[in-house]
Amino acid sequence: MKKTNLDSWICEAEGIVELTRSALEALQLRRLNELLAKEKRRGGFYSDLPESIASLNGLKSLPFTTSEQLVRFGNGMLLVSQSEVSRIITDSTSGTTGEAKRVYYTEGDCGHTVGFFAAGLSELVFAGDTVLIAMPFSGSFGLGELIAAAIEKLGARPLKTGIGKTFGELRRTMAEHRPNVFVGMPVPLLSVLRYLGKGSLRRALISGDACPKSAVQETERILGSKLFPHYGSREMGLGGAVTCPAHEGMHIRENHVIAEIIGTSGQALPDGEFGELCITTIGMEAQPLIRYKTGDTARILKKDCPCGGVTRRLCGVERIYEDSLTSLDDALFALPCLVDYRASRQGERLFIDALTDGSPCVKSISAAAKKLYSDYEISATARECMDSDAPMYLGKRYLAKG
Ligand SMILES: [Zn+2]
Repeated sequence: MKKTNLDSWICEAEGIVELTRSALEALQLRRLNELLAKEKRRGGFYSDLPESIASLNGLKSLPFTTSEQLVRFGNGMLLVSQSEVSRIITDSTSGTTGEAKRVYYTEGDCGHTVGFFAAGLSELVFAGDTVLIAMPFSGSFGLGELIAAAIEKLGARPLKTGIGKTFGELRRTMAEHRPNVFVGMPVPLLSVLRYLGKGSLRRALISGDACPKSAVQETERILGSKLFPHYGSREMGLGGAVTCPAHEGMHIRENHVIAEIIGTSGQALPDGEFGELCITTIGMEAQPLIRYKTGDTARILKKDCPCGGVTRRLCGVERIYEDSLTSLDDALFALPCLVDYRASRQGERLFIDALTDGSPCVKSISAAAKKLYSDYEISATARECMDSDAPMYLGKRYLAKG
C-alpha cells in the first residue's frame, strides 16, 4: 500500500523504512526513556521520575504535569540554554497569579513543526497554489511564519494576510492574488465566504479554534470541498494532529507526541472514549512535557483509518472552559443571514451584536439564542456587514462577561 504523506514524513524524519505501530511505539519509548534519563542526570523538573520505563504502558504510572506547573516551573523545564532558544511564546492570560506561561522552542523544534505542517498541508496544497494564511504573524518562528515556510516547501505561494484585516482589505487581496487555498480559523473563513463569496478559494485547512458543526457544514457547502481540520497547541509545538483525505479524525504527530485520553479521576481511558487529552511531547528539544493535561477533551478513534495511515487519530477535540461559544456558534451560524457576531452576558442578559447579509433576521437570531439560553433575556442587534468591518474575534471565540 502507498504510504500516506504523514507516514512518509515520519519515515523520512526518523529514518524508518516501513512505518508500523511497533516501529512507531519503539521510537516513542526510546525518546521517552532518553528524556527520563536526561532529567535524572541534570536533576531537572522531572528528576523524581524513574530513569526509564520498560514499556509505554508504564507512562500511565507517571504523574501529570499541569498548566499551573508550566506557569510556575516552566523555566526549570527548559532543557537547552537560553542561547539555543529561537522562540518563546508567552501567554499572559494563563494562570490566576499574574505569572505568564512560557513555552520555548529551539530552531530544531520549529523545523520539526514546519515538516509536520508541510506533510499535513500536502494533502490540499500543491505546487503553484496560492495560499491565504489568515493566522497571526508575530515575527520569525511565529505560527504564521511556520505555516508560510511549510507552504513554500511544497512549491506553493504563501499570502501572509494575518488576522484582523477588514473584509474590504480581504476582498482586494483575494481579487489581486486569487488564492485557491485558505489556512485559518473556521468562523472567519465562513464569514469571508458568506460576505465575499468563495472567489477563487477551493480548499481549506482550519485550526486555532473549535469547529462548530453548522459552520463546518456551511463552509464545506460553499467551498464545494471537505475541510481539513488541524489541532495544535503551544505546548506541542503548534502542530499536533491533522486531517487526511479520508476526513475521519486527525492523525496525531506521534513521532513527537504521545497522546493519552484520561478520565476525571486521572485514569487512562480506552480508545473510543471521551476524556481529557494528555500529551507527552517527546519530540520537543527545548521544553518536553510529560503527561501534560491540555484542558481539551477528545477521543482517540478505535479503528484504523481508511487512508492506511499508521498514526492514531483524534476526534471531537473541544476546549474545556467556561464561556465557550461553540454551542451558540453552532445554533447561530445555521442561519444563512449571519456573517459574524459577538456575544457577552451580564447577569441574566445575553447580548448579541451581529453582522448580517442585510436581510431582516434579528428575530431569528434572538429565537435561536433563546433556545440555548432559555433562562436569559436576549438582547440582539444586527446590521448589514460592510467592507470596513472585520471578523469579530481575532483569536478563540468566547462569551464575554459584560
Ligand atoms: Zn487517515
